[in-house]
Amino acid sequence: MAFNNEIVQAWVAPDPSPLTTSVEYLSYKQLNAADKERVHQMEAEENGIERPQGYTVSFHYNPEVEQHHFGSKHPMKPWRLQLTKQLVFGYGLHYAMDLNESLPASMSELARFHDNDYLNFLRYIKSPADIQKRHREELNRYVFTDEFNDCPIFDGIWDYVTLCTGATLEAAHSLSSGQSDIAISWSGGLHHAKKRQASGFCYVNDIVLAIQHLLEKYVRVLYIDIDVHHGDGVEAAFFNTDRVMTLSYHKYGEFFPGTGGPDDTGPKGYTEPGAYFSLNVPLEDGIDDKDYEWLFRRITGRTIEVYKPQVIVLQCGADSLGGDRLGKFNLNIKAHGKCVEFVKAHNLPILVLGGGGYTPRNVARTWCHETALCVGATLHDELPSFIPYRQAFEGPSHGSGLLYPELNIKRLSHPKTYERRDLENCAARCEEQLRCVMHHPVVSMARYPQLGTVLRAKQEVDAEIREELEDRGIQDEVKRRKQERATGRRGEYRSIVH
Ligand SMILES: [Zn+2]
Repeated sequence: MAFNNEIVQAWVAPDPSPLTTSVEYLSYKQLNAADKERVHQMEAEENGIERPQGYTVSFHYNPEVEQHHFGSKHPMKPWRLQLTKQLVFGYGLHYAMDLNESLPASMSELARFHDNDYLNFLRYIKSPADIQKRHREELNRYVFTDEFNDCPIFDGIWDYVTLCTGATLEAAHSLSSGQSDIAISWSGGLHHAKKRQASGFCYVNDIVLAIQHLLEKYVRVLYIDIDVHHGDGVEAAFFNTDRVMTLSYHKYGEFFPGTGGPDDTGPKGYTEPGAYFSLNVPLEDGIDDKDYEWLFRRITGRTIEVYKPQVIVLQCGADSLGGDRLGKFNLNIKAHGKCVEFVKAHNLPILVLGGGGYTPRNVARTWCHETALCVGATLHDELPSFIPYRQAFEGPSHGSGLLYPELNIKRLSHPKTYERRDLENCAARCEEQLRCVMHHPVVSMARYPQLGTVLRAKQEVDAEIREELEDRGIQDEVKRRKQERATGRRGEYRSIVH
């Protein structure tokens, strides 16, 4: 648990209150390892944390991922993972789970979905401008020079992507091998990355890779995405198959990535594989706890009933919380967690992933709360006094040292731009689509004896992409993407920085 003062300074600098380090943390720091352990144990006892009965939860993480920086003004802060870890360990939740320090994913594991040339580029590119000059052609090819690209090249980028992916793949393996029933990877959930392109702060799509792994064992995988942004990368990767159903709840309209509208249901045409298996729930600004929960329970419940998945992948992007630096919703931590609770209640294996989330203290609170839900623990609201970086959670504007501060407060809330009728129409449309899913023959292993079918579908999509690029030339492709972005506001990061 390194105490990185520089990062703390960078974080608290905009706050007018003076930087303080709690007395409790300073005395905790003086303790020897055994006494520190006792402090965590006492905390766990106080919260009644014990290993769950009848099922196993595993936690997959490599702390080296925290040290990476996208740049000081970039909203993606890997430091949020360090805060999450401090809260999870601070409350003693690690006593209730199998802890795994995951290894980075290998090049060949990443190449199961991503293009080899693109991976080689990520592996060798460095951030200084003179090196980038030499790689101009590749930077253009992978659209990194696009003025709307939100994905900077930073030092250690390869380590970062392989660490994030390694944790998620290990978690997926833990489920498929029966070692755990709920596997958590908070550094994963990077749902926008494409086969040969970084997008929306995501370079490598750990979710697609994990689902590919799960498909070796399970016939039907349900992917649920509660990030404020559409899970476009995952949807696109499994567009042509009914072995993966994607369900994404997100803000839609003048918002990144601009996809995931009501008519985006998969390939058009009843007989095509995958038709109707992309389910999208586009939402307006300002949705609150009650409305979100109502919609989530109704649509997710019906989807599970109809599709009958054997495993669920749940992307828990925390940018759908109130007060998020980029998000537009008004959700509180417990309402976000209700989605995890609801999915868990179906007693299926679950891969729980992170995702977006740009107000680090609230990301940490949410993922700590959701870790507690996974192990069935109830945490006290007052944060443990001895945790490092406690000051990041203190003061009225940072949640007053509580785990569950109210986030839907006047100063932060987004005006509601929908009516109850809109939600009802949305639910009815989803149910209509699910009726079409129901009328498709239920996918069975007999129909797909091996993964080949899914991969064949993927190869067809790859061929289409290749043809499209050859037809138009790469520069035209860049231009097209730019035009698309004009409506979808792909460059939102830049718009909030300036
Ligand atoms: Zn997001």
